[in-house]
Amino acid sequence: MAHRLTVIGTGYLGATHAACMADLGFEVLGLDVDEDKIARLSNGDLPFYEPDLEPVLRRNLENGRLRFTTSFRELADFGDVHFLCVGTPQKADAYAADLAFLDAAVEALAPLLRRPCLVVGKSTVPVGTAGRLGGTLAKLAPVGGDAVLAWNPEFLREGFAVRDTLRPDRIVAGLPADQGAAEHAEKVLREIYAAALADGTPFVTADLPTAELVKTAANAFLATKISFINAMAEVCEAAGADVTRLAEALAHDDRIGGRFLGPGLGFGGGCLPKDIRAFMARADELGTARALTFLREVDDINVRRRVRTVDLTRQVLGGSFAGRAVAVLGAAFKPDSDDVRDSPALDVAASIRAQGGAVTVHDPRANANARRVQPSLAYADSALDAARGADAVLLLTEWREFRALTPSELAPVVAGRVIIDARNVLDPDAWRAAGWTYRALGRP
Ligand code: NAD
Repeated sequence: MAHRLTVIGTGYLGATHAACMADLGFEVLGLDVDEDKIARLSNGDLPFYEPDLEPVLRRNLENGRLRFTTSFRELADFGDVHFLCVGTPQKADAYAADLAFLDAAVEALAPLLRRPCLVVGKSTVPVGTAGRLGGTLAKLAPVGGDAVLAWNPEFLREGFAVRDTLRPDRIVAGLPADQGAAEHAEKVLREIYAAALADGTPFVTADLPTAELVKTAANAFLATKISFINAMAEVCEAAGADVTRLAEALAHDDRIGGRFLGPGLGFGGGCLPKDIRAFMARADELGTARALTFLREVDDINVRRRVRTVDLTRQVLGGSFAGRAVAVLGAAFKPDSDDVRDSPALDVAASIRAQGGAVTVHDPRANANARRVQPSLAYADSALDAARGADAVLLLTEWREFRALTPSELAPVVAGRVIIDARNVLDPDAWRAAGWTYRALGRP
């Protein structure tokens, strides 16, 4: 428990990790290159929406266990264990991950190390990255500042980030090849995660490349499961079948299971799309592109759901968006998040706008982020305001408050009673009985 922890990169992952580790009793110093983010976090003001996280942040700022800085010097002097949580986005012009932020973080930290420490990577990276960064550390760290590198991929879900950090499904510890270093890293990680381990959380040790692959393989599997059911939705649309009933029946098979089997608008966000693309790019570099060609299809099926939603809406509106008003409910890539990175909802909204529709968006948390990315769309403060005068209402992110919408509350404000349920969360019978045209993905 004596360890002093640092977290490098305090975005969705890093801010959560820093606050939760402080809550477990560790002294934690978080660092980001974004001065504004650090100023806000230091004031107890979370720069993004994540349920339950702000109280954890605040109480640990108040009790003094959690602090933030922009100084790598201060960070290197403070920490026994440094967690790397910086972003690894898709490159602008390729499928591959952009590792520039990660490289910059390690290159800033390493020369400043003055005593032995453990560096733990948590960012999602192409297999082989940890080995390469271990070399950078060995080269740049001064004598006396010996650093051992481990990889501990993160599986948290936005919307459940606190719970997932404190009680993960499993902890994966990628350990270096040197046996002494590996034993040391495992011991330290077991101490840091002692509370979760005491609760029975599985602890899986592996070599560095295997640990890196666990994360990308998990995301590839989840993306595949979503695209599988959405491929079934395409077939259902052609055959006049109902994919929601199909999914329900499939889910009763324990070998298949119902989670991530919800047909709809597909996946988005700052992880799944870029992670499967980076995985394909890395497989190509390794000369094993064939192994992952199916992920190309997974990605295509996913993107086709967005196109289908736009086409379905246009068709219901009589073949054109010109002069038509469309209400879009949802901008975040999923509920309980304000994250609009690669958001299916925002993509559909922008596409309808580009085809001449007048689009008004409402999201309970993501309006501000959406406005930054898509400033030409109109934004409303409530679902009813978005729907006012609309010829069609599109439910694109399944927030609880949208699931609870009733035909009778929307009917008085809309211009046309058309609802497109792209997440399959409304009751078709109730809407049709109230005189609405109800359309969904993968259902007659
Ligand atoms: P993010 O964009 O919210 O945060 C990344 C942060 O790193 C930013 O605040 C940025 O300013 C900072 N940064 C960039 N360069 C830096 C540097 N040189 N030194 C210090 N800080 C620097 O991204 P995120 O969603 O938190 O994701 C971070 C990593 O975690 C990615 O690899 C992602 O794939 C992975 N991950 C994310 C989630 C999630 O749900 N968001 C879940 C699991 C894994």
